Amino acid sequence: MTSREEALQREKERLEAERDQVLADIAMLQESLKGEVDIDAEEGDPDLIEREKSAALLAALESRLKSIEAALRAIDKGQYGICERCGQPIPPERLEVKPDATLCVECQVEVEKLIKRGLYRPPTNVL
Ligand SMILES: [Zn+2]
Repeated sequence: MTSREEALQREKERLEAERDQVLADIAMLQESLKGEVDIDAEEGDPDLIEREKSAALLAALESRLKSIEAALRAIDKGQYGICERCGQPIPPERLEVKPDATLCVECQVEVEKLIKRGLYRPPTNVL
């Protein structure tokens, strides 16, 4: 294995571990949301704020899960961590925050400018 393959393999293991953690958290939250549906209409729902917080957290976890799964697919296709616009490696710090990043920071800025002007045409092979 080359050092790049080894690094990718480690990254994949890390992402898979995180995915399992996120899946466990989602299951737990869904369970807790399900458990509190028995509401007395007269009394209102004292847990409403708590449940809204859980629902927001659940949405955040689900979007994280999508990022992780997109990243894992990109690893399988050999596209992970490579900017799809300029072909340069995407910095690991960026991938940590956004595992499914497909653009380096410079290209992201460029693309956002183009989007604002309505000039951006996304690549057809989007993950
Ligand atoms: Zn780039």
